[in-house]
Amino acid sequence: MSASLVILNANAITLNPKQPKAAAVAVQNNRIIAVGSNSEIRKQVGKGTRIVDATHKTVVPGLVDCHVHMTEFGFFLQSPDLKSVQSIKEVQQRLREHASKTRGTGWILGGRWDHEKFAEKRYPTRWDLDAAVPDRPIFLVRVCGHIGVANSEALQLAGITEKTVVDAGQIELDETTGQPSGILEENAMQLIWDKVPRPSLEALEEASLLACTKAVEAGLTGVHWITESTDEIQAIMNLNFEGKLPLRVYVGVPPELLDNRANLHLSTRAPNGKVKMGFVKLFADGSLGSRTAALKEPYTDDPSSNGLLLHPQKELYQLVLKAHKAGLQLAVHAIGDRAVERVLDSYEEALKQFPRKDHRHRIEHCIILNPELIKRMKNLGLIASVQPHFIVSDFWLVDRVGKERARWAFPFKTLMKEGVVIISGSDCPVVNISPLLGVWAAVARRDSESLNVEEVLKTYTLNAAYADFDEAERGTIEVGKLADFTILSDDLFSVDPDMIKKIKVETTIVDGKIVYSHQESTGAREG
Ligand SMILES: [Zn+2]
Repeated sequence: MSASLVILNANAITLNPKQPKAAAVAVQNNRIIAVGSNSEIRKQVGKGTRIVDATHKTVVPGLVDCHVHMTEFGFFLQSPDLKSVQSIKEVQQRLREHASKTRGTGWILGGRWDHEKFAEKRYPTRWDLDAAVPDRPIFLVRVCGHIGVANSEALQLAGITEKTVVDAGQIELDETTGQPSGILEENAMQLIWDKVPRPSLEALEEASLLACTKAVEAGLTGVHWITESTDEIQAIMNLNFEGKLPLRVYVGVPPELLDNRANLHLSTRAPNGKVKMGFVKLFADGSLGSRTAALKEPYTDDPSSNGLLLHPQKELYQLVLKAHKAGLQLAVHAIGDRAVERVLDSYEEALKQFPRKDHRHRIEHCIILNPELIKRMKNLGLIASVQPHFIVSDFWLVDRVGKERARWAFPFKTLMKEGVVIISGSDCPVVNISPLLGVWAAVARRDSESLNVEEVLKTYTLNAAYADFDEAERGTIEVGKLADFTILSDDLFSVDPDMIKKIKVETTIVDGKIVYSHQESTGAREG
């Protein structure tokens, strides 16, 4: 039987040590059936074989983003874009534009603003937002997702006053008036979210699909999709059932859903179509940008604070234990060294009480580390889930933590040398979803912790597959494996590291099908 799809004239980087490079690949339905020379693979071409001509192009195993908030990304794409905004004035301008486009009285959500980029160098306030749109509730989250600003209408709907008290969060009060300024930190944001009408299933599906479209355009063949609710998961399931998902999805679920696992068919091993229910995602601390990441020593640029642990240790341990005992994989968000230490303590205790081989538990972000923490991560067999693009986007890092601690931020090379498995993601919409930007950031940093292209590529492919228990099926270009490929305009390995971010995604192939093609000509039929 002839192949359903072949890739010819390629520079294929297989990541298979037995056959590191190849010129051509043949696929039958959704599996790779041959990897070899053009003449060998041409023999597989028959009537109806789809030929992808990859002349001057590089083919790599399908790239996977291991930490992405896809539903949120979809809504972000539909909301006023404040990411590139350079001043509070411009925020107001964008809000006015959005309000006139969308009309009505509904909530205006979104944001991803970064006050570090603002000319005013301060947080926006409720009054700034009121001046732009006074008659609709507005809530705009900072780029980190750990702080947001609400206008007066939103604060009123949420019943937030100067007397409101919250646990593990803060309602900032204006210094002169003593009134809430609109800035809400961590759990205080929940007061607002409680008042925002839940999006319909239809709206969730629409946002999800929009995010998926952008993901395959960026060259992704899979995502570890962090969800916040059963509705979000239902939307993914519906799209999967309708055959609309263009890429593979490994679902991260919030701990609240642990109690109704039966309804969710939670299992980290069994895929259903393109979807696999996966890890339980917990939070241990906040973010460095908003100074809510829990550090052992105070912030360099705010000696009064060393951040915020989101759970008392006992509570964190109970959450970890519950998921661990249920046989599930865990992924705990921990950015500061104090949070990482607490997570390590919890994992260590859970593994001591209930030993389990091959748990593949993860720490998300693990930005501020040190040699001792890295050793403990290795000894516990944990996966470091990192976001290389943060090296670039957290340009204020030295201000926050000082030079000494910054040395141990993003210590990718040391982690790898110690034998910790690293996986990479974007944390989109925190930063751009492009995996190539991540590869670029990890390679072009050019310090003692920079990785080479092959090392980074593995974090997006083979290691990513390992993190969802699928390394036997994916992660390399090898006979028998699933046919997921990303085709790039240039050779990652030979271009100047700074040029990696300029490389374009030509074609994305998932399960042997082209789900994105930059040039339709690559899809020409022959035979
Ligand atoms: Zn995240």
